[in-house]
Amino acid sequence: MLDSYPDAPNIYFSWQKSQWEKLNFDIENDRLPHAINLVGPSHVGKYQFAASFAQRILCLSSLDGHACGQCKACKLIFADNHPDLRRLEPDNKSKTLGVDSIRELGEFFAKTSQQGGWKVVIINPAESMNLNAANALLKNLEEPREKTLILLICHQPSRLLVTIKSRCRLVRFPVPSLPEMRLWLSKNLAPREDIEELIQYASGSPLLAIKLTETGLLESRRKFDRLLDDLATHKISAISAAEACKENDPHMALDWLYYKLVLEIRSGAKITSPVLSFRYMDRLIQSKKLVQSPANLNLLLIWEELLINWQQLFKKNK
Ligand SMILES: [Zn+2]
Repeated sequence: MLDSYPDAPNIYFSWQKSQWEKLNFDIENDRLPHAINLVGPSHVGKYQFAASFAQRILCLSSLDGHACGQCKACKLIFADNHPDLRRLEPDNKSKTLGVDSIRELGEFFAKTSQQGGWKVVIINPAESMNLNAANALLKNLEEPREKTLILLICHQPSRLLVTIKSRCRLVRFPVPSLPEMRLWLSKNLAPREDIEELIQYASGSPLLAIKLTETGLLESRRKFDRLLDDLATHKISAISAAEACKENDPHMALDWLYYKLVLEIRSGAKITSPVLSFRYMDRLIQSKKLVQSPANLNLLLIWEELLINWQQLFKKNK
């Protein structure tokens, strides 16, 4: 097993060993299901796992439960050109996976596999399917064909139809333990003093920690936190803070805000009313849903409302 970063096909991460071994056992004992739902928070490597597992299944001469990396099938996968593997993702603009892509799967599954083995589909993330797409997928799940495997990557299982979930094997991918995360980061990052802060900001997700260091997101996150602190102490106005906030990716920044709120509720030192803070949490969840919808939104307005209410959670020093 390789335990390296950046990600490449034919690997899984150290914290995914038990999931890999269990599924591998099922391959060897001919007990692999037709659909697997890989559920866990973002940035724990679910997609990398699915891609590696697909390669493991399609490889023509796998060794000790791993793809060989050398055969024709492996080479086709490295070139992203294997005829028996489909990867479905929403296009960036609409953020949803429509029914047409899923309908094509019917044809894909109906054909004989070109390499004579399995046919594998990865849907990433599964919750990006709209209702029509989800219903179309359901048909494939209800009447599975021989030697076909659907791998669903799912960050938010609550957004997936119950009827889909009930027809898939659930495999959970939690964040690794803290010691494991520290060890992995120490192997994959140059030594740094802010490692604990990094882990905290990444909410324990190793690949997010790497992303934070590579993209300048760590600094954005620090700025965002300072902004929230300045708002809480009434040093700045919510309107000017909203202007700065709208520059961040809203999905990510709303998660940051949620995390900060949880910390403030836990410490209980500055928040004036627990009732208000839980009401605020509901509002935050609603905002997150809005941002996930395909509708065009006035982000500035959303931030203004959230930050005005944020400021009201804290006492004004006289
Ligand atoms: Zn191979």
